[in-house]
Amino acid sequence: MRYSTILPVGALVTALAFAGCTTEMDSLRDSSSNPLLAEWTGPYGGVPPFDQVEVAYFQPALEVAMAENLEEIERIATNPEAPTFENTIEELERAGRTLSRVLAVYGVWSTTMNSPEFQAVEREMAPKLAALSDQITQNEELFERIAAVYENRADANLTPEQERLAWRYYTDFVRAGAQLDGEAKARLSEINQRLAELFTTFSQNVLADEVNHFLVLEDEEDLAGLPESVRNAAANAAQEKGLEGRWVIENTRSSMDPFLTYSDRRDLRERAWRIWVNRGDNGDEHDNNRIITEILQLRAERAKLLGYETHAHWRLEAAMAKTPENAMELLEAVWGPAIERVREEVADMQAIADAEAEAAGSEKITIEPWDYLYYAEKVRRERYELDQNEVKPYLQLEKLREGMFWVASELFDFEFRPAEDVPVYHPDVRVWEVTNKTTGDHVGLFFFDPFARSGKRSGAWMNSYRRQERFDGEITTIVSNNENFVKGAPGEVTLISWDDATTLFHEFGHALHGLSSSVEYPSLSGTAVPRDYVEFPSQLLEHWLSTPEILQRYATHYETGEPIPQELVDRIERAANFNQGYATTEYLASALIDMKLHLAGDSIDDSFDPKTYEEVTLGELDMPSEIVMRHRMPHFLHVFASDGYSAGYYSYLWADVLTADAAEAFREAGGLYDREVANRLREHVFSVGNTVDPAEGYRAFRGRDAQVEALMRDRGL
Ligand SMILES: [Zn+2]
Repeated sequence: MRYSTILPVGALVTALAFAGCTTEMDSLRDSSSNPLLAEWTGPYGGVPPFDQVEVAYFQPALEVAMAENLEEIERIATNPEAPTFENTIEELERAGRTLSRVLAVYGVWSTTMNSPEFQAVEREMAPKLAALSDQITQNEELFERIAAVYENRADANLTPEQERLAWRYYTDFVRAGAQLDGEAKARLSEINQRLAELFTTFSQNVLADEVNHFLVLEDEEDLAGLPESVRNAAANAAQEKGLEGRWVIENTRSSMDPFLTYSDRRDLRERAWRIWVNRGDNGDEHDNNRIITEILQLRAERAKLLGYETHAHWRLEAAMAKTPENAMELLEAVWGPAIERVREEVADMQAIADAEAEAAGSEKITIEPWDYLYYAEKVRRERYELDQNEVKPYLQLEKLREGMFWVASELFDFEFRPAEDVPVYHPDVRVWEVTNKTTGDHVGLFFFDPFARSGKRSGAWMNSYRRQERFDGEITTIVSNNENFVKGAPGEVTLISWDDATTLFHEFGHALHGLSSSVEYPSLSGTAVPRDYVEFPSQLLEHWLSTPEILQRYATHYETGEPIPQELVDRIERAANFNQGYATTEYLASALIDMKLHLAGDSIDDSFDPKTYEEVTLGELDMPSEIVMRHRMPHFLHVFASDGYSAGYYSYLWADVLTADAAEAFREAGGLYDREVANRLREHVFSVGNTVDPAEGYRAFRGRDAQVEALMRDRGL
């Protein structure tokens, strides 16, 4: 489960005033002194000036670009000619080019190159960007023109894509409050600006806790059970923090999960687990509980202002699911079988724990949340004879990257060649040129930023620096994949886990979605689809990782070069549905809480206590006590760092219904490399962006609607 779009996130919370004095800022207000304001130059239709960035450039560049955007909007709105698709909608597609360029670089710094200096800029600019967006959607003259084009669309001789774009603009403006009266609009803008501030603080708080709270291991005894790779990473982390001779388990999933899986020290597992699940919930200056309450109240008020029952109703209207009831129905259908499976998993683990206690003559324990991964791993070894440490030497990041490029060439005819003439923002980042291997045409650029570092937010995501479009001449896309893999020591290969490899393929699915785009207008391009559809291409691509074609050729031992033994692949396959109870339940608990919170509407008052709410609601759901939500509310960035995935965390499961069903389409046709099915997939899903309704696109690919049974089979539920 990974987010795919940029969330506005910072890294540290040190409050610093913006460093530039007025005169210095004045001199950064044109493209000769501020490279962020210049057109992108260089090869491939121009590339981002990543090698020329200074944090001091961002605020003046944003301010100039925002002012320019408003002027463009004003010109469109006050055009004396009667509104047409060309002079209104197409002009809107042309507007804001400078701002898009600045925001592309700003987004990279926000998510991967963050610093206290940059955070001050974020706090200053977040509400201003929110205000700009409202100024545009609340411009009455502009909305009247959009409405006129939309209402006359049938007589205007538009292409289907143009009609859909007119519909999109009209609908987006209405949903953002374009039809409200002046007083309501003013309040709406106030709410949006306050929310932008709260989102920024929320994410900066989570990151502060991730940086400041971690587990220190003092001596050899504290390392009991940890494999070499975890020990080395912990020693490196300690050294970076100036704690030589000790070991540090960092407060990120890629450090915590291995520790909780392998540490024999139950007391330390509990301590680590508490540090991890209490991010944003420590009752100190970075506590997020009050922020959650205010965000929920403001969202409920905004939904009412906009004429919707709740925030969930407002958000879901624009999604594939259409209503909260549809989303809840799916979540609840899977919930029962998932918690049932957890009970079986816990019983298996308890049996091992009991046997161990008996053998050691010690007191029996009851499985607690900090025991789950530890005993699950023992069950995996016992039942499937599969040890994750046995797999890891075959999972070299570089080889698997070659493997995913090979998949792209088999499915979509793409060829990847290193593009060494393109500037990067960090030495770890590499760029490839993508071409069509049959025609030789340039398709786009692929940026790859795979490693964790300080100032980069946790998780994995894809981003577009530039979207594909062609209505004004062909513009090719620039996409990026970002992960947080632990980099190998200097001169050594980077080995990743099976989960990491799945993430690698997942994000590459988003990248291929962007690269395959073949549309006229940028607003409908690539991944600009509803949130509960965008995870379909990415989750689908995960399926190619475990194909024999990839494993035999690209999963090779980092020392011997031998391919992974078939017998080990068989064991991996047999264990494929292992621990699905845990994975599905921890995810669903977060998705259900997200939806219920945003269906609660007015009932959230000042006395609302997120912790009590979480406890009571999970109790009502009969949540197994051995599992905690994948994201507890105080650090649920999907939901509280932006509106992005709010009332939208269900999207992964929704899209997974399509994913599982689509994978079966390949298997029915003879396998995942079937060209004919791949062509249909590209034609109706990957290339169309948002130019067709997603449900129709899927139907055109599959010949029918998706059926949920494939998902249940896929997860072994
Ligand atoms: Zn994703």
